[in-house]
Formats: sequence, structure tokens, C-alpha cells
Amino acid sequence: MFELNETHDPLLTSWVVSANSGTTDFPVQNLPFSSFRRKGVTETYRGGVAIGDHILDLAAAATSGLFNGTVQTALEACAKDKLNDFMSMGAETWSTLRLALSKALRTGSSDEAALSKCLVAMSEAEFTTPCVIPDYTDFYSSVHHATNIGALFRPDNPLLPNYKWIPIGYHGRSSSIAVSGQTFPRPIGQTKAPDATEPSFGPCNRLDFELEMGIFIGSGNDIGTRVSIEEANNHVFGMCLFNDWSARDIQGWEYQPLGPFLAKNFASTMSPWIVTNEALIPYRIAFERDENDPQPMEYLTSDTNSNLGGLDIDLEVLLETQAMRDGGIAATTLANSNMKYSYWTVAQMVTHHTVGGCNMQPGDLLATGTMSGPDASQACAMIELTSGGKNPIKLPNGETRTFLEDGDTVIIKGHCAREGAARIGFGSSVGTIKPAI
Ligand code: MN
Repeated sequence: MFELNETHDPLLTSWVVSANSGTTDFPVQNLPFSSFRRKGVTETYRGGVAIGDHILDLAAAATSGLFNGTVQTALEACAKDKLNDFMSMGAETWSTLRLALSKALRTGSSDEAALSKCLVAMSEAEFTTPCVIPDYTDFYSSVHHATNIGALFRPDNPLLPNYKWIPIGYHGRSSSIAVSGQTFPRPIGQTKAPDATEPSFGPCNRLDFELEMGIFIGSGNDIGTRVSIEEANNHVFGMCLFNDWSARDIQGWEYQPLGPFLAKNFASTMSPWIVTNEALIPYRIAFERDENDPQPMEYLTSDTNSNLGGLDIDLEVLLETQAMRDGGIAATTLANSNMKYSYWTVAQMVTHHTVGGCNMQPGDLLATGTMSGPDASQACAMIELTSGGKNPIKLPNGETRTFLEDGDTVIIKGHCAREGAARIGFGSSVGTIKPAI
């Protein structure tokens, strides 16, 4: 399942020269998927694969006459505006297409002349969500975030006793998920100050981001069946960056007893690119659980999960305010973290989600939860970075922030870099807050 193959070879280069820079997110070892079209012209969205600063148009590749068999069938599915049909074809087909595209895009490929006509410059493209997202579940997989935020909401009882046994999550809202570039009005709702006797109604005053990873299900499972921990990764198509915007004051009033609702359902911003599970193989690491903590139950344990269940993905979140934009000041880093801090693995989240017989469908999205690390500088939400708004962050131009203001743009980036492997990245998730309407 996690064996390296020729597509991961760090020495591979592409005839698309920008893929060979060493700093691009999209070398030939990556080959992530999106749904795109050219800006400013009337045409339909279709599947694309990133290569350097270009996109390989998979609809054009499907009509190029270069491919046949399983690869051609896969490309025809990728020519649609949503990739669900391709994602449902399963890990073997994803892998077959990956190998074919890797070979076709390599330096020296005889397909160069024909395939170079299927490239679109990324700067000329716009994106949409790469698949229909039937359902969205948000997990809570950083014990550091859970402890930090639990201490703010429940000072006497920060980490509830179920946390170290169950991958905690809630069913979210998929309709308001959009790709990078999303803008949305500040949400309005009910809030209640701790000392107020009654709630009030108005714009959210404690608007926050959450740096997360998104996990896309490819092949699903039938209702009444479950996905074992050994099988879980065969169901995972790939991962993206994910910003789960959160209205903390709305959350604080509404979340008991059934969990987040309107505090989370107004917008979520994903990166346009899904980096496939296969592309992530070189950056897999051991999953370690502190020996003083409860060890995962048997249904959440396997040798593969212990040896290779973790992922080493560097994550960064940056802020650009309206004043910074006006003053030509670059976005400033708020925090750096890593997917390796997750208390639960991707396989454990998938397996737990289905253990009662819940059916997953192609395109379903699981988000990891805010991926905060152990250090204060690795806190991946404003509520943690400012201790619930008590300690404002000072920005390079002298502005301060406790929570997000109108005009603020939050940028999430992520990449994998490891000795003996190519550097691959996820692109970015960019979202901007507009005034309440
Ligand atoms: Mn979240």
C-alpha cells in the first residue's frame, strides 16, 4: 500500500521546465488534481494535473490519442467538471493514471510535442471544487488544540475523558466549502457575553480561522459495512489544505449540548489541488502514541498504521490585512505546524467514521481539525494564538489583532520535504473576510 515506486524517484525531471526548479510545489513527483478552466473565456471546468507553473488539461489529454486502456478510461472520467467518477474508480486506477502521466511528462518523453498542446498556464486558470462533496466531517485530531481550546471554554476541565479514546468529530456542512480565493461576509448570529443575562444578535466579533488538512475519500463503502484499518488508505484519494473558518462567539453560545452549528457552516476554504495519497508515500512516518496515554483500541491499530500511519507535512498560516495590502507589506506568518502532531492518523479517522456501518461516498471530505503543535508558536487558530483574545498579536505594520477583521486575508500553505525525496507542495488556501451584510 505504501511502497515507493518509480513515480517517486527524486531524480525524475520534466520537459515542463518550471517543474524542475526545486522550489515549485508541483514537480513531476507530485501530480495533484484540480478542476479548472481558463479565466475570461466561456468554457467548462474539467480535470487538471499541476506540473510546474502549468496545468495539464485532462480533457485535452483524453482527446489527444496518446493513451488507451485503463489510462484512457480514467482520463475520460477526469474530463468531466467534477472528479467523483474518477475518484470512485479506486486506488489501482489512480495509480495506473499517475504512472502514465509521470512517464508522459518526464524529460525525454516522446509525448512532449503532442502533450505540450494540452498545457494551460496556471496564471490563466481559475478553479472550482474538484468534486461534488456529498458529506463533510470535521475531526478534532490535535490534542494540543483540544487542550488549548478546552481550557478557554472549560477552564476546570479542558480535555474531556473521551478524547484519548475516540477520534472526536462532528458532521459539518459541505455546501459552503469553496476553493482558494473564496470571499464571504462576516457571519451574523446569536452570541452571549459571559456576564450578560440574555444573548444579543449581530455580526460575529470573534471570527477565527482553523488551519487543517482535508482528506478526500475516493472509493466508498456500502451502508452497513465498515472499512478496516488495514483497508482505510485504499479508500483515500488524497489531501488538501483546509481553512475551517469559525465564529468563536457564536460557537461559545450554541455549542452545548450538540456541538458546532452556525459557528462553522458559513464558509470553509480548501486549496484547489488534491495531492494524492500515492504522492504522499515518501513523507510517511511512524505513528507514535505516548506510552502514558491509552493505546488505540484494536480496531484502530495495525502494523502499517503504527509504522507508516503518520504524515510529515509542514504547514504554515499567514495573515495579510487590508492595511498591509494597501501599504505593500507582505503577508506575515502567524504559525507553523505539521501534520505529524495529529493524535489520530488518517486511517484511524476513516475506520472510526465507518465502524458503525456509515457509508462513505466518493468525494466525501474529512477534515483533520485544527493542526496545532505542542509549542505556542504552533497554535493554528487565533483563539489559541491570543489566549482567547487576551493577548493581541502585533503585526509588522503596527496593527494588532485578537480575532480577524474585515478585509483580512488568511493564507494557508503546506509542503513535504524529506531527505531522499522530492519537495512537493499543496499550493495554497486563500480566503478573505468581507463586511457583514
Ligand atoms: Mn475545525
